[in-house]
Amino acid sequence: MAVIRVADQAGACYGVERALDLVHAAIEDGTRPVRTLGPLIHNPQVVRELEDEGVRVVDEVPTDATCSLVIRSHGVTPEVMDEARERGMEVIDATCPYVKKAQHAAERLHSAGYQVIVVGESGHPEVEGILAHAPRSFAISSASDLAGHALAKRVGIVVQTTQSLAVLEEVVSAVVGRVDELRVMNTICSATTERQRAAADLARDSDVMIVIGGRNSANTTRLAKICSQSCSMTHHIESPTELEADWFMDVDAIGVTAGASTPASQIEGVVSAISSLMGEAGDEQR
Ligand code: SF4
Repeated sequence: MAVIRVADQAGACYGVERALDLVHAAIEDGTRPVRTLGPLIHNPQVVRELEDEGVRVVDEVPTDATCSLVIRSHGVTPEVMDEARERGMEVIDATCPYVKKAQHAAERLHSAGYQVIVVGESGHPEVEGILAHAPRSFAISSASDLAGHALAKRVGIVVQTTQSLAVLEEVVSAVVGRVDELRVMNTICSATTERQRAAADLARDSDVMIVIGGRNSANTTRLAKICSQSCSMTHHIESPTELEADWFMDVDAIGVTAGASTPASQIEGVVSAISSLMGEAGDEQR
């Protein structure tokens, strides 16, 4: 029977756990309808479970002043935060403290006269929120995106929390020779790097890797990519129903990891589903 091992750093990070705790506290309180500005986390199953408990996802700040509006861990622009407060609703700010650190870093660099570059995915809500804290800043996802941007003499770099260190290093090398002064604020969150390192270590020793998390989750997609570099049999799934018995035939080591938006209960569900599938495969072979 194959061994199933879960990566030593996998699943919901501090910021996601905190956001879920805040929403559950608001549900239990029960005095106001609870709304989240965008899906709370990039995990469709969890979002559906919250909907079953009456939590609705809204695309923009609602006009209903009687509701509680949850700001998700990615954070928002200062304008959105002001708009919600001005409309009189209760604002539950679940912005992850590490994202806040990146927002404040951008704000401080701008105030000190630096042109701010945010290394991250343009259009991602977290990146949009950071950019909004530093007027005239811009985002790039790789060094090649610098082409076409005029750089000031003094440049400050801030990083989307889920970026890889390799991309940051590549951008720093490309900028350093083009400016008089460069300040780098490494705002990459350690939860991301720890999960990536643990996943890579486990993938090297596994015949099959299962990566759990939303397909809309950037950090889960990156984990799957990292695992597939060392383990060609890497599968990215959102739920145990996607597992196929064939994946576990004639293998010795199965690795499991999960993105930062995946609660421990979902990891346990997948591990138990893999065990059942292997049991069934064993029965068929006997
Ligand atoms: S990955 Fe890091 S920055 Fe993002 S929510 Fe989790 S703890 Fe916060």
